[in-house]
Amino acid sequence: MLERGEVANSWRRERWESLRLLTPNWQSRLPGFRYEGPDPDGYMSAAEVAEFIELFAKVSRAPVRTGVNVTSVRQAGDGYLVTTSDGEIACRTVVIASGACNRPSVPALSQAVPAVVEQLTPLAYRGPGQLPEGGVLVVGASATGVQLAAEIKRSGRPVILSVGEHVRLPRVYRGRDVLWWMDASGVWDQRYDEVDDLTRARKLPSPQLVGTPERSTLDLNALTALGVELAGRLAMVRDGSALFSGGLRNVFSLADLKLNRLLDTFDEWALTSGRDSELGSPERPAPTGAPASPRLQVDLRGGEIRSIVWATGFRPDYGWLDVPVVDEKGQLRHEGGVVDAPGLYALGLPVLRRRRSSFICGIEDDARAVTGHLAGYLAGT
Ligand SMILES: Cc1cc2nc3c(=O)[nH]c(=O)nc-3n(C[C@H](O)[C@H](O)[C@H](O)COP(=O)(O)OP(=O)(O)OC[C@H]3O[C@@H](n4cnc5c(N)ncnc54)[C@H](O)[C@@H]3O)c2cc1C
Repeated sequence: MLERGEVANSWRRERWESLRLLTPNWQSRLPGFRYEGPDPDGYMSAAEVAEFIELFAKVSRAPVRTGVNVTSVRQAGDGYLVTTSDGEIACRTVVIASGACNRPSVPALSQAVPAVVEQLTPLAYRGPGQLPEGGVLVVGASATGVQLAAEIKRSGRPVILSVGEHVRLPRVYRGRDVLWWMDASGVWDQRYDEVDDLTRARKLPSPQLVGTPERSTLDLNALTALGVELAGRLAMVRDGSALFSGGLRNVFSLADLKLNRLLDTFDEWALTSGRDSELGSPERPAPTGAPASPRLQVDLRGGEIRSIVWATGFRPDYGWLDVPVVDEKGQLRHEGGVVDAPGLYALGLPVLRRRRSSFICGIEDDARAVTGHLAGYLAGT
């Protein structure tokens, strides 16, 4: 196992200071290893996640070689030649577990932002103190965007949040964490080959969730109550102005509709599984409230906005992979982790084999299936 940094590098180096997992502690499961602390319903800080993974590496005696950067993997004979900062390795098979979120995904329109406005990505953001005083435009309203918008607003800065397609979730439903419902009702069990539109499922934005001791919901209504101003999707930057799409109400209605459908699924499952009586009563959150007249334009040169945070997602980095298995969108071509080249495998990608694969707790089943295939390949079966 080659790691360019330390064990749990992404959790040590690439997360903002206040970040906590949005999955509850009891859901932090790795093969044969689980959270056993005093707060199963709490949410780990990034430092605690790093400790958790480090302990797993020790207990599982994973043969990790840290500080070894892979600079190239290419086909050689019936296997691969891996070039690293510490020499070359020839091997029959390679498992790519280099992460799905190595780089920020920033839209090209960022290049038209006037130089007076500072731009930051979540990989570089550590806390609001890093930002200049004054207004902040946060682009993207998924888990990262809503969390950063709330934190920056609480630091006293005016915040505009640009909202596109998003996944709204309450933190708690009928007395249970919403991710308990995802797990228990089987939603997260859905296999990649049962999903209607797999490409879309793999690109689905992360849910609007935050892990706090109060288990509070951080949806757009909560942000409005905090004083965050909501605007539409950032469509263009022209002549120094940010132009936002209209139709915010439609975007909100769609997210509300999908949320209510999901809650219907949960309620149905509660009835059919006989768990209904042990849970609180079904409830529906208030619809997302739209501002009376959302702004369609903000002048980025006028001083109102001093910085932009691009919470527009992440993408993997396969710059070191010299095997033609990456598509034009920069994603690996694979079938449930079996990559489109003999002996090449992948783990740790969204909806790799199940919806659960996007989360830490998804790795156990995925790893079993992928290593099963790999062992068969090595055995020539
Ligand atoms: C902001 C954020 C919040 C998240 N919150 C949650 C959450 O609440 N719950 C949850 O379950 N999941 C969450 N996730 C998803 C989570 O990151 C994954 O579930 C998990 O960390 C993936 O682990 P991984 O080992 O596959 O990838 P990573 O953690 O990205 O690890 C990949 C490793 O590969 C190393 N690497 C990359 N390229 C090379 C190279 N060329 N040579 C050598 N080493 C290399 C990197 O240094 C890194 O250590 C979150 C992700 C992000 C980005």
